[in-house]
Amino acid sequence: MLPPDTPPLTISEALARAVRRLAPIEDSRLDAEVLLASALGKPRTHLIAWPDKPLSQTQQETFERLVERRLSGEPAAYLTGEREFWSLKLRVTEDTLIPRPETETLVQRALELIPEDTAWIIADLGTGSGAIAAAIASERPRCRLIATDISGAALGVAAENFRNLGLFSVDIFQGDWFGALPEAILLDMILSNPPYVAEGDPHLEHNGLPFEPDGALMSGPEGLDAVRYLVKGASGYLKPGGRLMLEHGIHQGEPVRRLMRLAGLSDIQTRQDPGGRDRITEGRNPD
Ligand code: GLN
Repeated sequence: MLPPDTPPLTISEALARAVRRLAPIEDSRLDAEVLLASALGKPRTHLIAWPDKPLSQTQQETFERLVERRLSGEPAAYLTGEREFWSLKLRVTEDTLIPRPETETLVQRALELIPEDTAWIIADLGTGSGAIAAAIASERPRCRLIATDISGAALGVAAENFRNLGLFSVDIFQGDWFGALPEAILLDMILSNPPYVAEGDPHLEHNGLPFEPDGALMSGPEGLDAVRYLVKGASGYLKPGGRLMLEHGIHQGEPVRRLMRLAGLSDIQTRQDPGGRDRITEGRNPD
């Protein structure tokens, strides 16, 4: 609670104060703006349009609480309940991984391969908030998307996102990787951003990862359990010539290519994320 005689802060004052407090955090200005906009229930442009507008006491207190939680490490996307991915506004909760810019590299590469006007069937395995499926569905409306997840809570969020974005070409199935797919289906493409961080990796203690679902991040002692399973099984669910494309850790390009070779895939290539680090590997099912 603020003392009753505290003079109201204007938008620009509240923002400047929060930017100073959030200084230890990367992207402190962006986070301060996102949190203030959320406390006011307005888009971020409102802050620029009305810098001299005073905050009500409730707004000020709501904003203070959000800044406190951000300072203690909680990601801004969970505090506001949303995150932009591929220019789509997605709802996210602690049941879903927060979509990251590097996953847009996977979307971009997939779109290079998916012809504009064909009705491919494409699966996004372990969809989480639905980010990959939503991005592909929005760019290739004739394709049928299948979004799966083992977490019913995550699928609830994904379903809400597809509905809000008017993406009715996405079907949702709950289950463990291929186990979620409809029987006897053959796919033109399998996409996935599976968990790929090694258990006990110190990286898990930073950048808000402690707030994210373990099951979306961690996968065995080398972080490769889910990737290995997906690579081994993919052929059985892909049409001849169909592609598997996976996101992985920055040091996993070599092992993922090796796994794909062992699984008999061809045209194996690794691509880099915007930071120039190995991040996406694809392979093609033989004809
Ligand atoms: N890219 C995430 C991170 O390391 C991990 C996401 C994942 O495991 N799929 O922060």
